[in-house]
Amino acid sequence: MLVVGLGLIGGSFAAALKEKGICHEVAGYDRSRDSVEIAFENGLIDRPCYDLSDGIASADVVMLAVPMLAMPAVLQQLVDVPLAGKVVTDVGSCKGSLVESARQLFGEVPASLVPGHPIAGSEKSGVTAARSDLFNGHKVILTPLPHTDIHATALIKALWQACGAHVDSMEVGHHDEVLALTSHLPHFLAFSLVDTLAGNRENQDIFRYAAGGFRDFTRIAGSDPTMWHDIALGNRDAVLKALDRFTEGLEGLRNAIRNEDSQHMQGILERASTARRHFT
Ligand code: NAD
Repeated sequence: MLVVGLGLIGGSFAAALKEKGICHEVAGYDRSRDSVEIAFENGLIDRPCYDLSDGIASADVVMLAVPMLAMPAVLQQLVDVPLAGKVVTDVGSCKGSLVESARQLFGEVPASLVPGHPIAGSEKSGVTAARSDLFNGHKVILTPLPHTDIHATALIKALWQACGAHVDSMEVGHHDEVLALTSHLPHFLAFSLVDTLAGNRENQDIFRYAAGGFRDFTRIAGSDPTMWHDIALGNRDAVLKALDRFTEGLEGLRNAIRNEDSQHMQGILERASTARRHFT
């Protein structure tokens, strides 16, 4: 097993597999030599790897855990490698752009590529944030294509299950639409809210008086900007659709407040409150 990208997600995946002992060996590569060294010293990986081509050549499973916009460059390294007997998977937050990159680079998406996305993480990033229990009890969505090798999919499913995750399958486009609404939209709203407030000098005081509601709503605005930049571009169409849908809803609430339309406002607040209480 070779994990490429030893940050929060890749480091946690490596650590979970190493802890379970179900892989013969978990090797790790990162473009940052320091991250590889820390991953090895902290016991996340069995073997440090400083040359990606060598690492790929000797791995039976290659996990890509780099930022979305770095995925094509790493996939490129696999183009000339005989993939027979190897399984490749990833953890990228957007599946359509990953699959499209693979199609462009390989001519057709290799049957041994199993796209995946763990629905777990945090606003922290980097190798020092990695922990072996990150995926415990969380969902992982695999988005195999119709021609994806069923044995490859079964193997990746088993690896995630060993990490304590529940594995679901979804069609690529459906995944991107669902995640645009449930994950990408809330992150961009939190970033935008904090930027709107922080960008105005008069508002500096506001943070001093911000209470639990502000803290709960904006925790995820502390997430890694590069990662979310890449997700915005990697899932652009679905994110724009989600933002339009939200803008329309917000405009409805704004109109209700402006027009003192209590009935309309009450309807929005009650529907939202009931829906939120059903979400655990
Ligand atoms: P991270 O910043 O913690 O780690 C990314 C690692 O990749 C870094 O160590 C970086 O040095 C390395 N890297 C960057 N470019 C590279 C390259 N070309 N070759 C080798 N290494 C390279 O990020 P993360 O949170 O672990 O995210 C990794 C992937 O997981 C992203 O695609 C992201 O969309 C996805 N993801 C993240 C979360 C989350 O909550 N953080 C959740 C699900 C999926």
